[in-house]
Amino acid sequence: MTVGDDSCQGILVSVCPCPVCGSFAPVLVLVRLDEDEFVYFCPGCETAWPDAPVFPVLDQVHSLDELAPKGVRLPTKIETLELESKTPVRYDTWREELDRVLRGRPH
Ligand SMILES: [Zn+2]
Repeated sequence: MTVGDDSCQGILVSVCPCPVCGSFAPVLVLVRLDEDEFVYFCPGCETAWPDAPVFPVLDQVHSLDELAPKGVRLPTKIETLELESKTPVRYDTWREELDRVLRGRPH
């Protein structure tokens, strides 16, 4: 087994900079536990979107709790293949925020 092989674990990717935070924070891709659908989340301002926002347009503001009441998980590498553009993000950069939103998911 290769250490760091993330093909079957969750990976962290961003689709664009956050329309609220600008280049300070990325819009991350998460997956809703109840529907297995993508939800987009900015760890900088904690805004969430049901569809990928188009930077720099800010046309809707939701909270992650509102869009994913059952919680979220990281997408798998395979799931992110359908995203047209994505940038890998280091988990450590947003560890504190991510640990918080990913915590409390049912086992
Ligand atoms: Zn933001």
